[in-house]
This record gives sequence, C-alpha cells and structure tokens, in this order.
Amino acid sequence: MSSIRGKDTKPEMTVRRALHACGIRYRLHAKGLPGRPDLVLRRYRAVIFVHGCFWHGHDCPMFRLPGSRIDYWMAKIDRNRERDREVMAKLGEQGWRRLTIWECSMRGKGKITIDEVIRQTIEWLEGSEVELEIQGNHPSR
Ligand SMILES: [Zn+2]
Repeated sequence: MSSIRGKDTKPEMTVRRALHACGIRYRLHAKGLPGRPDLVLRRYRAVIFVHGCFWHGHDCPMFRLPGSRIDYWMAKIDRNRERDREVMAKLGEQGWRRLTIWECSMRGKGKITIDEVIRQTIEWLEGSEVELEIQGNHPSR
C-alpha cells in the first residue's frame, strides 16, 4: 500500500508519460499551490491529481479496509478525505480547474484504457468544465 502513497506512483507516471506523448506540457508538484497538485498546466489554468483509491478513500471496489486496526485506518482515511476537500476548495477559490484521475480508472476490474483516460483528460483541458473526476467503470455500491 505504501507504494500508492508517495510521489511518482505508477498510475501517476502512466498519466504523465501518456500526456507528454500527446504534447501536453506540465509542471510537477508545484510547491506554491494548495495540496501540491501532481500536475499543473498553467496554460489551461488546470491542475491534475492522480489519486490512489485507498489513501484517498474513494467509494469504489478498490477501496478495501485492511483486516486489522480498522479504526485507525478509518480515522486516517477520513482525515485524508477532509484534507482533499479543503485542497479542492482552496484551489477553486484561486481559480484553478481541477481534475482527479482515480487509480481505479487504470487498475482493477473496472479499469478503462489509458487511451480513454487521456482522451477524457484532453477533452476536459480544452473544454470549460471546472471540475471532473475520471474513474473506473464500476456499479455504484
Ligand atoms: Zn477508485
């Protein structure tokens, strides 16, 4: 699980490489911005987060609590979710458009292809929608 948390996680690298191959340029982990977004695209006034479904408490089949210390994990993930909400609100106040790409869009049973993730990402970048989440295809729970 720790591999999901750090910088330069695998789903993030996949997104970065694919966007770069499409000629999209970005900055990484900009320190001056709330939450240090994974990718910052000033030209589009946009930030992108690639979120691990466990750490960020996504409501999807990839989120499963470990078998022990459930209270500890619940509290920790609740804090992460709370912090994510605050970060998104602050970025919104500063006029940034926000995209969250969930891990389950690229891994697990409901994954869509990376091509599809990138297609939706570029469509969003070039559109005017303020906020978007890209996630796997799974029946709601
Ligand atoms: Zn998910």
